[in-house]
Amino acid sequence: MGGVTVGGSHPIVVQSMTNTDTADAAATAAQVRALHAAGSELVRVTVNNDDAARAVPAIVAEVDVPVIGDFHYNGHLLLTKYPACARALAKYRINPGNVGTKRRDDNFRTIVRVAIDEGKPVRIGVNWGSLDQQLLTEMMDENATRPEPRTAREVTMEAMVESAMRSAELAEECGLGHDRIILSAKVSGVQDLVAVYRMLAARGDYPLHLGLTEAGMGAKGIVASTAGLSILLQEGLGDTIRVSLTPRPGGDRTEEVQVAQQILQSLGLRSFTAQVTACPGCGRTTSTFFQEMAEQIQNHLRERRAAWRGQYPGAEQLRVAVMGCVVNGPGESKHADIGISLPGTAEEPRAPVYVDGALKVTLKGETIVADFLRILEEYVATRFGSANGPAERHLAVGMHETDIPLA
Ligand code: SF4
Repeated sequence: MGGVTVGGSHPIVVQSMTNTDTADAAATAAQVRALHAAGSELVRVTVNNDDAARAVPAIVAEVDVPVIGDFHYNGHLLLTKYPACARALAKYRINPGNVGTKRRDDNFRTIVRVAIDEGKPVRIGVNWGSLDQQLLTEMMDENATRPEPRTAREVTMEAMVESAMRSAELAEECGLGHDRIILSAKVSGVQDLVAVYRMLAARGDYPLHLGLTEAGMGAKGIVASTAGLSILLQEGLGDTIRVSLTPRPGGDRTEEVQVAQQILQSLGLRSFTAQVTACPGCGRTTSTFFQEMAEQIQNHLRERRAAWRGQYPGAEQLRVAVMGCVVNGPGESKHADIGISLPGTAEEPRAPVYVDGALKVTLKGETIVADFLRILEEYVATRFGSANGPAERHLAVGMHETDIPLA
């Protein structure tokens, strides 16, 4: 199984989560593989009952990516009852608000002891939807006695941070290494997310898993996640990220991986796939001519991504411009590694191609796209062929010094 190291100066890791019934080992393994193939470097599965715990070893045996177990309410029972499950998982996620209403600390300690015995790291994942109500009540009561009480929102954010930090301390008291703990504190509002993670980062040096919980569907979920994560990532916070999108019925679960990658790549933190700069089109591109050609080029880049990854290391840093007319086409194309300025509606059917900022050729006729793709392939082979590949230039941002290897 491929290994992943989290924290310190290591690249920020993309994580995702399955939505299959974990007890259905075949379906879950298939989705884990799909998420991994899309670029997820860690995949979390819920381990919610006996059947799920029994299925975990078979799932892990079928995939080549670290699998994280998500435990709520009965993690202490499942991890002790099913040692093969405990052994197979790469990491355990514990929600301190969901380790039971009675004997809470004992249940938490039980999970931590299994983690110690099995040599696994733990994510202490607080979520405001399941925040430790006893702690929140204590902090609200204490706040009410203050001469100038803080708002309920502020106290809730502080309670989330307090829950994470107290749990981390308890885990360390049990003997779990400081460098075996990662924290998260997920909320569903962007400003709350930024506030709570800033507080969390100020309280310690644990690596942080970022995510806007229950981000929602479609554009709303993508934009809200991007807004929240981008602010934090730009501040150097975050060691792993997940984008929690609600898929449409029958929709593609891997969309959350693509969005997470695109956030990191748009911020210049990592490179995953060739980036296309395409103009939106306007009244100068009233026919479908431009859209069809732009789509064919985009599809080619998508289809070639996997092959390039193995054959041409560094090709994921390629910048391609696909522009709709002469207004900005030549200029934008010159800024890209390779660019084409397609003909607008009223223009002659000619398309200048720029390579490394210089005009290389002007294409004409029915084969403009095919000719451009040939030039593109030649460029990639020449620039990113084994002897010519550039040095990695992603910026690994992570202010914390803890490294958590996930075998
Ligand atoms: S490059 Fe041309 S077609 Fe594209 S948006 Fe600008 S003016 Fe319109």
